[in-house]
This record gives sequence, structure tokens and C-alpha cells, in this order.
Amino acid sequence: MDAYCLDLEGILLPEIWIAVATRFKVKALRLTTRDVPDYDKLMRYRLRILKGEGIRLRDIQRVIGGLQPLPGAKQFLEKLRLEGPVILLSDTYYEFWQPVMRKLGCPVLFCNRLGTDRSGFISSYHLRQKDGKRKAVRAIQQCGFHVRAVGDSYNDLAMLKEADVGILFNPPASIRKDHPKFPVARNYQELLRLLKG
Ligand SMILES: [Mg+2]
Repeated sequence: MDAYCLDLEGILLPEIWIAVATRFKVKALRLTTRDVPDYDKLMRYRLRILKGEGIRLRDIQRVIGGLQPLPGAKQFLEKLRLEGPVILLSDTYYEFWQPVMRKLGCPVLFCNRLGTDRSGFISSYHLRQKDGKRKAVRAIQQCGFHVRAVGDSYNDLAMLKEADVGILFNPPASIRKDHPKFPVARNYQELLRLLKG
């Protein structure tokens, strides 16, 4: 029996930090785990920049609330949910995605939480567990499912390796080159075909 584990940003929704960096014209917020592999360092850096720029959580939520799913994402997700359970595994935060999840039909999402200070600035972040995407795949397999996983970035590789089938969706050329064993889908039609195959 198949279950489907999908990354969120880059698969169904645009990259949130890029949207925030663009909206507030803060180039420093464009850094990703590709530039700063240490996630804790990257997040502490982001929180410092946000505070310095006077950007509060509700400002970010407003930007995210204006985002649209990637073209065709909602229909893709609806079709996939007819095939079996779909769980979105993301390194992002519930506070960020609440404003936009309705546009995707409120799928099941496993992610993390943010803390704010009295002025509404993001002051901390709380990861549910280390290596959460990989551990979620393992747990779903232990429930008796054959897991097919989809990701697009470095932080998805452990999940794709753990899954019974791992698929890359529009990955950067470097990941594609370094991990040629994962099949690549470039659009939702190809992705559905690979997921159902
Ligand atoms: Mg992604």
C-alpha cells in the first residue's frame, strides 16, 4: 500500500524566504541551506536580519497570505490524494503556512513552530525533532506503507534515500548531477506518472 511524502516549498508552493526577501527588498534573506549548510546558523542569521529590518511575524504572514500555489499544484495534489494518503514533510513553520494552506485544500503537514517576543518579532524556532523528514518516512513505513517521496533540495535527500521510491522535482543541476539514481520529474504530469508507476 502506497503513501506519499512530499516536500512543500518548490514542490507545491514557491520558496518562502525568496518571497520575503523580494517583498522587503532584503538581499541577505535570499541565503538558503545551499549557501549556509548549518541550519541553526542560518536561522539565527535570518532572525537577526528580520529584527534589524523591523520585519515582524505578521508582516511575513501577510506576504505568504498573498502567495499562490505553483500553477497546477492544487489539482495535482487532489489527484494524488485519490491514490492514497499524502503527507507534506517540510522544514518550515506552521505560523508561516497557515495563511496559504487553505489554497491547497488543507493537506496534512508535518513541520515546526516559531516563537515570538512581545513586540511580535520571531525570537526562536522549535524543531519537533532532528532529521524529521527521514524519521517521518521511517515511521510511515512502520505503519505498513510503501513510501514514495518527492523533494527538490539538499534537505530532502535523507528523506528520498529512506523512502522506497525517491523522486526529484525540478532540482538544481548540482543535485541532479550528484544524485543520478533518483528519477527526475519536470512537471506535475511526469510526477504523477512516476508516483503511480
Ligand atoms: Mg523544497
